[in-house]
Amino acid sequence: MNLIKIIISLTLFSSILSAQKLEKVSIQLDWLHQFQFAGFYIAKEKGYYKNQGFDVSIKEYNSDINVVEDVLKKKSDYGVGKSSLIIDRLENKKVVLLNAIYQTSPMVLITKKDLNITKPSELKNKKVMLTSDARSAASINSMIMSQGLKLEDINFQKHSFNLDDLINGKTDAMGCYLSNEPYLLEKKGIKYNVLNPSDYGFDFYGGIFFTSEDELMNHSKRVRKIYRATMRGWEYAFNNIEETAKIIYEKYNTQNKSLESLIYEGQVLKKLSKIEDGLLGKLDKNKIKEMQRLYILLGFGDKNIKIPKVEDFVYDSLNILYSLNQKKYIKQTKIKLLSDNNFPPFTMMVDNKVQGIEIDYWKLIAKRLNLKNSEIEIVNNSKKSLEKIKKNPNLVKYAFSKRDKTEITALTDSIAEIKIGLASFMDTPYISDINELNGKKIAIIKYTSYYKMIKKNYPKINFVEVKNAEEGILLLKEKKVYAIVNKIPALNYTISNKGLNDIKIIGSFDEKYDLKLVVNAENKMLINLLNKAIATISEKDRESISSKYYSIVYQKNQDYKELYKILIPLIILLLFIFRSNRVMNKEIKRREEVELQLNKVANIDSLTNIYNRRKMTSIFDNEINRSKRYKRELSIIFFDIDNFKLINDDLSHSHGDKVLKSISTLIKNSIRKTDFFGRWGGEEFIIILPETDKEKAGVIANLLKEKISKFDFDINRSVTCSFGITSFNETDNKDSVLTRVDHAMYYVKKHGKNDIKVV
Ligand code: GH3
Ligand code: MG
Ligand code: MG
Repeated sequence: MNLIKIIISLTLFSSILSAQKLEKVSIQLDWLHQFQFAGFYIAKEKGYYKNQGFDVSIKEYNSDINVVEDVLKKKSDYGVGKSSLIIDRLENKKVVLLNAIYQTSPMVLITKKDLNITKPSELKNKKVMLTSDARSAASINSMIMSQGLKLEDINFQKHSFNLDDLINGKTDAMGCYLSNEPYLLEKKGIKYNVLNPSDYGFDFYGGIFFTSEDELMNHSKRVRKIYRATMRGWEYAFNNIEETAKIIYEKYNTQNKSLESLIYEGQVLKKLSKIEDGLLGKLDKNKIKEMQRLYILLGFGDKNIKIPKVEDFVYDSLNILYSLNQKKYIKQTKIKLLSDNNFPPFTMMVDNKVQGIEIDYWKLIAKRLNLKNSEIEIVNNSKKSLEKIKKNPNLVKYAFSKRDKTEITALTDSIAEIKIGLASFMDTPYISDINELNGKKIAIIKYTSYYKMIKKNYPKINFVEVKNAEEGILLLKEKKVYAIVNKIPALNYTISNKGLNDIKIIGSFDEKYDLKLVVNAENKMLINLLNKAIATISEKDRESISSKYYSIVYQKNQDYKELYKILIPLIILLLFIFRSNRVMNKEIKRREEVELQLNKVANIDSLTNIYNRRKMTSIFDNEINRSKRYKRELSIIFFDIDNFKLINDDLSHSHGDKVLKSISTLIKNSIRKTDFFGRWGGEEFIIILPETDKEKAGVIANLLKEKISKFDFDINRSVTCSFGITSFNETDNKDSVLTRVDHAMYYVKKHGKNDIKVV
């Protein structure tokens, strides 16, 4: 089990943190501290910024500050602004919009109810207090003008920022924040009306987090990290309003607000963030285009410059902004990866094509860079590749050793961290401290990228050098070594590919190996571009790439999620109680066994070793709830073996069993870690695919259908299946989906079998 691994990595993580030097970053707010900026405080107070390596200072606004100018002049690295940032860009100020927390701006006009003003048109000849900054007032001015009034029809007053002026009738309407003033008026028992631009179609954004183009071009990785940590802060803030309000009340309360008013503010702003609709932070390109048009209509912007493309100033965490030169380079150059093809699971030949982890990352990078002209050439000699790169600066390769960094070559940022781990038998206890291996015989593959480093760093381990993984496994099986060392993906690959069910990962070293590309050092353009693309690779991308190559190992883990909730605290407690590793390991092993047995009986089909119907039903219930709650896609594939009875009848029942087992393994190894696969009954199977629409599920089913029909089941005949596919929709319940997908499958049965039907 991976419990210990989790605990080890947690402790590792914290030690890495304490050793790390934090980079200073500043964020300039556009108003005083209040709930309006909660996400930033939370990201700071909860350590989200710190975890990414940043010491962030959150700077409060004062009237001497011009947020946009300060960010452009690098007085601050990031800022918070209004929709008027779009005007700034129309004036050629190079701001880049990262996210918008408020999907509609909180800025509204408020009037006292007894004035009986319910529509903007009724403001004619009335006194209105509004900020003199025409940009900030644009949404309110647009609302007024759209209702047939001219701005001259209104008696504008300078904003006093004193609510008493509204209460005492010094003004008839006041520009206010929906999240602040209504609370104060309610407290005083004063009835009011709201004129909200968004009700009249002027649906501007508020709370836009932004930075400079310079920052994005030169520090794209930092932008991504800050963006992510901030989004995480917001998510937490809106999901924990009271706790967040308390933090602001205690640490950021420069305005002396009451706790209650901060909570009220949080509740109103949460609605404006549309987090419940899954829109947190969203900057919609079409909406921004419309706003651009509106601002131009209102006379803003520099008429001499071209209207900037939205793609060029709105950050898309997957899209990379290029300079014109970079765009030209990408378009005109053939960039080639020189790859070997014999280091599974990093590179290997499948169906006559080179595939593997390195290739998947390369494809991802090529896609993010929009490389139309990217090629892969097989060169099974690292030295030769290096020579080629020295001669042709548009070639790259993956780095294997220190030798790859020369005077004429440079390395990119890390694409993925590959951990060096240990594998041994199932009944070997997990290693919580590498010192436990001192004096033990451990197999290590000679001439690997990590070989020297590991040998040097652990002189007390008795390393046995082997030529390759196979030799290591052999020694392990003969009990001549205690464990074998290799990169964790390679260990996982060996275990699943060779069907070594009795072997598992028992621990990992602190040492890591970074997957990087080697580039000709002179080609600064390419290095920059690659680093930008690398910065867009998310943990999710990494997970899906690595899990592709060891689906078995991980698929089992999913099942334990619920149990972990109970077990992790228990295990942590145990860690403290049983200082001695031996006692701890024994106890954990016992628990693992109990857990495994419990789980197996309840959830696993004994013939095929995949989930049983009961487990799949409960997973389906969960996934339906999740899909409903988060409005996520959910599809299912239901399939049945064609003419299975004949296999039993013509050959034997045990041949039938063998086919059931083989098909289970085949499918299990072919689907994503996030999908659930189980036996529904007899020769019927079901796959639950979260976050997948039925078209995609159809594609997957087609692939599986092909795979099955081509697979050699060792029975001198081919096996085919009939597939039904559907996805969950709002009006569905579990039974309606299952009935529909069952009918779809039967439709295929009736129409010739070995096919798929999407309904
Ligand atoms: P069709 O493709 O039209 O569905 O035809 P079929 O023969 O596959 O379907 P049918 O439902 O007629 O037969 C299914 C057979 O599967 C009948 C049953 O004996 C056999 N079966 C069910 N469970 C097992 C099992 O665990 N092992 C073996 N060997 N056979 C099984
Ligand atoms: Mg059948
Ligand atoms: Mg059947």
